Amino acid sequence: MNLIQPSSFSRREALSMIGLAGGGALLGASLLRGQATLAPSPLSNPIVAAAGSGPASLAGKQAGFYRFKIGEFEALALQDGGMSPTLDQTPFAVGEAPGALAGVLDEAMLPKDRVDLAFNVLLVRTKSELVLVDSGCGALFGPAGGNLITNLAAAGVRPEQITAVILTHAHGDHYGGLLNVETGSPVFSQATHFVARREFDFWSGDAPDVSGLALPPEVKAGAVAGAKKAFNALKDRWQKVAAGDRLLDGIELIDAPGHTAGHLAVMFASGSDQVLNFADVAHHQAITFARPEWRFAYDADAAQAVATRRRLFDRAAADRLRVWGTHMPFPSLGRIRRAGSAYDYVQEPFRLG
Ligand SMILES: [Zn+2]
Repeated sequence: MNLIQPSSFSRREALSMIGLAGGGALLGASLLRGQATLAPSPLSNPIVAAAGSGPASLAGKQAGFYRFKIGEFEALALQDGGMSPTLDQTPFAVGEAPGALAGVLDEAMLPKDRVDLAFNVLLVRTKSELVLVDSGCGALFGPAGGNLITNLAAAGVRPEQITAVILTHAHGDHYGGLLNVETGSPVFSQATHFVARREFDFWSGDAPDVSGLALPPEVKAGAVAGAKKAFNALKDRWQKVAAGDRLLDGIELIDAPGHTAGHLAVMFASGSDQVLNFADVAHHQAITFARPEWRFAYDADAAQAVATRRRLFDRAAADRLRVWGTHMPFPSLGRIRRAGSAYDYVQEPFRLG
């Protein structure tokens, strides 16, 4: 049979190829009536039509939300933004030898000239609450962030429908979306805002000790001023909580200090399913897992950050937990496995529902 020239098929050969020879001949006959059925005109074929008269460009924004389930809970991973700084501008690998960072990226088969850093936000609908964990960058990082509200809208969620916001820690890429920059009013106007008392007290103190940050003085001063401003602007709304607290239904706050004094991870549990939102315990899917002991410039207490990382990673690996991390590649869902004395981050497959 010559597969290159369909016109040379006998009718029976054609029917045989589409599984309709014999008993299906009658149906096959109707399918085969006229050339148009076997060889549709270009305009009736959506693939051909798109090629002929389709969009001039495929450029534009990426998809901004991803739906998944945590047991009976519904969840959305939402893109707020991202950036790709060159290696000399990244906060990774403080004090490591020149070339070490590029070496880790190379081992992971990633580009060696830049580090891609995502800003993602997690929304979970429990039985009774609509819970947002962190709020993205808002206007603080310019075009690198601030897409949360647009992506919530695309998923059919309005900010005023959110009943609870949990702030994992007071850095700008997490609190930046809480306030409307024009009006100064809360974006999530109906939500109770939860924060660790230890985090609130740290930044609200007279002189927060930021000496552990490996950052220039003006950046440290900016971090303090920004956190104070966010806490002050929403001061009547904060509900202070502590690691170990169980919030609402199916939410447990997990102690995860080091990145900041009161940094929290958040465990969501429904039925036998769990997702651990580890927030900023890790900042990169290859670097932080392959070199968990490396110092990250924005970690307030580097040794404590490493200890927290190992404790949570070990737990996640032992329990085969699903994890979610703010700065992991979208949609930020994965698992962690041991790899000698280090770890691997394993991205969860894309699921349709
Ligand atoms: Zn962050």
